[in-house]
Amino acid sequence: MKTGVFFHTEFSLKDWPIIGNKFRNFPGVMKNVLSLEGVSLFESKPATEEMLLKVHTKAHLKEVKQAWYYKGATLAVGGCMEASGRIAKGELVNALVFSVAAGHHAEPSYAWGGTYLSCTGPSVAHVREEFGITRFAILDTDSHHGNGTRAVFRDDQEILHVCFCDDDRIEGNGTKIDVNAGWRTNDEEYLDKVRKEFFTRVRDFKPFIIFHNFGHDTCEGDYGDRGLTQSFFPLLAEEVKKCADEICEGRYVIITHGGYLREVAEHIFPRIVEILARP
Ligand SMILES: [Zn+2]
Ligand SMILES: [Zn+2]
Repeated sequence: MKTGVFFHTEFSLKDWPIIGNKFRNFPGVMKNVLSLEGVSLFESKPATEEMLLKVHTKAHLKEVKQAWYYKGATLAVGGCMEASGRIAKGELVNALVFSVAAGHHAEPSYAWGGTYLSCTGPSVAHVREEFGITRFAILDTDSHHGNGTRAVFRDDQEILHVCFCDDDRIEGNGTKIDVNAGWRTNDEEYLDKVRKEFFTRVRDFKPFIIFHNFGHDTCEGDYGDRGLTQSFFPLLAEEVKKCADEICEGRYVIITHGGYLREVAEHIFPRIVEILARP
């Protein structure tokens, strides 16, 4: 077993905040790649309140618990935690984690933009507690600034967070980076920026796992359109996988983020599973 795909049928049944019903035809559209050698489909289990409280305040959790999307959000976080734990145990090398209502806009006590619980926060806490492993990198190529991920790890210098958004900024002794991705870019220019701004830094940083907040709202016609084509996303996953192969024995967790175009999601995620499963 090598590649884990973490999904729950709940994700396909609802029209989620911001991303809509883009997972309506999942996991069916991945049928062919799920049968590839080394690929396993896991049903995401909910994160416990205890784990969520490692990152979020009681008041924030109380508020999110009242929302209809709470169950979906806890399943997304739980999937990410399990993927990370299985990678730390050596049972998996990499994973694609489906996420709804959870992700990079969730700060400890505030959230917006369709993501209300942190995925990487509880996952990092879980691997640190269970395995004593401390260093992680988080790449964020969603169109928008990952304010939540940044807030959760702001003072944590064992987390490298490189976020492609609208400003060029370096904080936290070089561990918290924002890169201006540009609004009218193209596939090759964006990939070049990832190589230059992420690959060079992550090689020096030497994390145990690379997490990837993988939005596709940057695609032409989507709500965070930066001029990228559908072909960009599998290429990006392929390059980051190669980087992970080189620096951290392939340990790589992709977490789905923004983007509401169903045809883009259905095009890219089966291809990404195939890429992750390659030897
Ligand atoms: Zn976004
Ligand atoms: Zn940013």
